[in-house]
Amino acid sequence: MRYACFAWPGGQIVTPEEFIQRATPEYRAKGIHAYCPSCGEPVHPYGVQSSNPDVPRSFHHPDRQDDADPLDDCPQANRGGRFRGMYADGWDTTRGERLRAQFFERDTLCAAYEFCRQMCHRGGKPIPFPVAKFGEMIRRADQRRIWAYRGIPLWAVPFTLLALVNIEKGEGPRDYPFHFLIQKGGSSPLSQIWEGKRSCRMVKCFSDGGNVVRGSEVPIGEDVYLEASRRFGWVLDKPRLLAALMALRGQ
Ligand SMILES: [Zn+2]
Repeated sequence: MRYACFAWPGGQIVTPEEFIQRATPEYRAKGIHAYCPSCGEPVHPYGVQSSNPDVPRSFHHPDRQDDADPLDDCPQANRGGRFRGMYADGWDTTRGERLRAQFFERDTLCAAYEFCRQMCHRGGKPIPFPVAKFGEMIRRADQRRIWAYRGIPLWAVPFTLLALVNIEKGEGPRDYPFHFLIQKGGSSPLSQIWEGKRSCRMVKCFSDGGNVVRGSEVPIGEDVYLEASRRFGWVLDKPRLLAALMALRGQ
């Protein structure tokens, strides 16, 4: 990844070159480290001292532990699997705070909830979509600082939220547990889904084995989001549901 925080988690955003300039090549001996802006783990600068200009300058996460929960992996690590290609290509904390506040405006929140509920349909039939599951998505987005991804538009947030959790098996006899995967070719940053340079889509995968559920592909785009979220009005007529959704802002 291209950026890390200098000296402490949440510290100033620096490139690998800037990190070495400030911390010097003896950064380890000095006890000065770089930290991932997303997960807060220490990361290591790579390539800065190479004389080969083709070596990319970047920060690397340490190897993932074999027994680590894939859902807890850091998207910035881009280590393959669930969150490959979901990393930020820059950070904007102030904008991120504004975006999160905007997300929690009543109608926007209800539309995002309705969108996620619609996307979780199986075979055209709705499945229960508990507020707790929506809350888990938001909690994981908070942990990963998805809101602060540079340039992320509001409509792209709910697509991203869906990819952060597992959807458990419902009540139906033919029901199955699944998760969403963002497919966009290559491992370029998440910004590819809103910059629209290449067509990106969202698929469902069976949680057992990871195969793509046939016919589950949905293109990722603002028009798709608006269409699937526009019938959110029913939420406004359910005061308890609405209150539970609004309460997620402070969770
Ligand atoms: Zn990280």
